[in-house]
Amino acid sequence: MGRQRRHFNGPCLRDGSRRVNASGPRNSLFPVARTMPSGNTLTIATAPDPGKRCSRCVLPSSYPGIRFDSAGVCSHCLAHTPVRYRGPVDLKRHILEASSRARAREHCLVLLSGGRDSSYLLYYLSKVLGVRTLAYFADTGFVPPHAHGNIHRIVDALGVELAVERSGTLTRCFRPHLRAWMRRPTAASSGILCIGCKLAYHRGALRCASTRGIGVMADGWTRFEGGEYKRALMKSPRVAADALAMALGYAREIAHNPRLILNARCVGAQIMEYAYLLTPYERRRLRRAGIIKLSPFSWYLRWNEPEVVARISDLGWQPHRIARSSWRGDCILSPLRSFIYKQILGFNDMDDAYSSLVRDGQMSREEALERVERESEYDEAVLREPCEIAGVDFGDFLAAVRRGRRMHERST
Ligand SMILES: [Zn+2]
Repeated sequence: MGRQRRHFNGPCLRDGSRRVNASGPRNSLFPVARTMPSGNTLTIATAPDPGKRCSRCVLPSSYPGIRFDSAGVCSHCLAHTPVRYRGPVDLKRHILEASSRARAREHCLVLLSGGRDSSYLLYYLSKVLGVRTLAYFADTGFVPPHAHGNIHRIVDALGVELAVERSGTLTRCFRPHLRAWMRRPTAASSGILCIGCKLAYHRGALRCASTRGIGVMADGWTRFEGGEYKRALMKSPRVAADALAMALGYAREIAHNPRLILNARCVGAQIMEYAYLLTPYERRRLRRAGIIKLSPFSWYLRWNEPEVVARISDLGWQPHRIARSSWRGDCILSPLRSFIYKQILGFNDMDDAYSSLVRDGQMSREEALERVERESEYDEAVLREPCEIAGVDFGDFLAAVRRGRRMHERST
């Protein structure tokens, strides 16, 4: 089948991104070395000490809610049980059964971001399982050029049709959200910087699948991504119910920093995104549309990093030019968020994800430690870009992060 590429025939929002070439003063606020050359950029700051690490994985003692036994093994390692994946035969049967009731020619819509996991998922479903797929890409305005290139190289190589939809929500909200966050820069509230992304992908994909009569949606989420600490930071300890604890924690952040909700249009996006993440809203919409949503790497397929990188590299997929990890290279805000967590908490998603891979037997503890160190160093150019888009002085951003670190240290 010849590849076709077309824009999805649904509501298509204008991309409102505004790129401001604010050069701003270079960072002189962090007292630590920023002179490690890395291509044309500089390493700008070292993170605080996250505390003693688990003797089996690499989670630190500052990880929310963590406990250690007398041998120094963390509660996450002690509670770990190996996952029994259902396997590719079950996955294919599930997709074909669910799609048999739908009217589309394609069996499955794949949410493609240009990152490594969704690229591999598209390859696996279309080439290994022989499932007829449609790739769906939501352009949030923050997708770096190499990820755009990856998307087109992958669909070209696989002969898969690509539906593209633009969403202006993230570009519209990032600037006011970043400025508001800098007034009281907590790790818990930094999630607001990405408001609009999940909404663009998941709501857009559902609309696309529904319009075209596709019965199955699949995303590249893996069970190794971690991030539990972000929810723990946000949750109010006063209630047990997950969604209510998150809502109360969010209300606490707003009470401390009302600027987070001063922009009415962005508040609407916040409410919609939290509804998507925390309530049955999406499940109800999927049920009404007769669509099932799968994350094959959660229950069916064991995700394996060397296999993933090798297969997609064969298809022309390329990592970010200067980022040090092949992970999450599909959004220019991802390094900014990771940097914020690392600088305020002393750890971030890398510690979480690589600890999961140690438990899964895919990585030694030594390799995890080495990669956490190496991949958590951030090049200035990577961090400057989103600040420039928001028209925020990079020095002011770094000063806010440093203030966030002091606030966190005082609170612990
Ligand atoms: Zn552990």
